[in-house]
Amino acid sequence: MSASPSTVCLSFDFDALSVWLEYGDNVSPNMLQRGEFGARVGVPRVLKLLKEHKLSATFFVPGHTADSFPEVTRTIVDAGHEVAHHTYAHIEPIGLTLDEERRDLERGLEALARFGVRPTGFRTGGQSSHTLALLEEYGFLYDSSFKGDDFHPYHPRIGDVVSRQQSLIKGRESKLWELPTQYEFDDWVHFNFNFSPYRNGTSAPSKVYEIWTTHARWMHEHEENGVLTVLMHPQVIGRAHGMDLLERFVQYCQSLNFQFRRMTDVASTLGA
Ligand SMILES: [Zn+2]
Repeated sequence: MSASPSTVCLSFDFDALSVWLEYGDNVSPNMLQRGEFGARVGVPRVLKLLKEHKLSATFFVPGHTADSFPEVTRTIVDAGHEVAHHTYAHIEPIGLTLDEERRDLERGLEALARFGVRPTGFRTGGQSSHTLALLEEYGFLYDSSFKGDDFHPYHPRIGDVVSRQQSLIKGRESKLWELPTQYEFDDWVHFNFNFSPYRNGTSAPSKVYEIWTTHARWMHEHEENGVLTVLMHPQVIGRAHGMDLLERFVQYCQSLNFQFRRMTDVASTLGA
């Protein structure tokens, strides 16, 4: 058994409508209403559970969500949870020019600033080769987009050269901390059914509970100072079986005396 306390970070990507805009001209009101569920039902349920268990969490909020659902965003801020940057409108930087990416980053910052929030963390599913350097420039403390480790924060490299013609040429280590996530801990993978493009998304919560608790127990038994980051979405985990899973997982981590910490608090105590 690990002598040091294990840490779990509960993180929620409050995408609301923005994640569905990736479907472009094919986005339908039906899709958008799934995002509406996140704001209308998911966030209040998640906040209630966190309050009942006296837990602090991290919410990655796109500027588009903050501008579209200011009253819901305000309840997150007022409850003392961390609000982190998740691009302006769930736009993946890999498709943007440097100027466009900078503008998107700033637009997201401006939206969160209207709530008095200066985020220290960032997450996106599709970084560009400029993203980490931009985050450094704007004073971010950590990123949580990658999967290069599972239980330990690390410094991701900037400027790696990877090609088939030669072996890896390593870039420099970023000053940012990476708080990595895992697809096994992403509720979207397990529970988000979709017709087209097809996603199964019909996992039993008992299956996901087994995966999550196995990771948590193994980390606790084998890894010193392990940090487990759970990636959830109010529009997904906020459904009844998701909430039941989340509460049982919280209780499991409590039984192992895990610390529940906001990601910014973990990153800020890691040192340089
Ligand atoms: Zn998202």
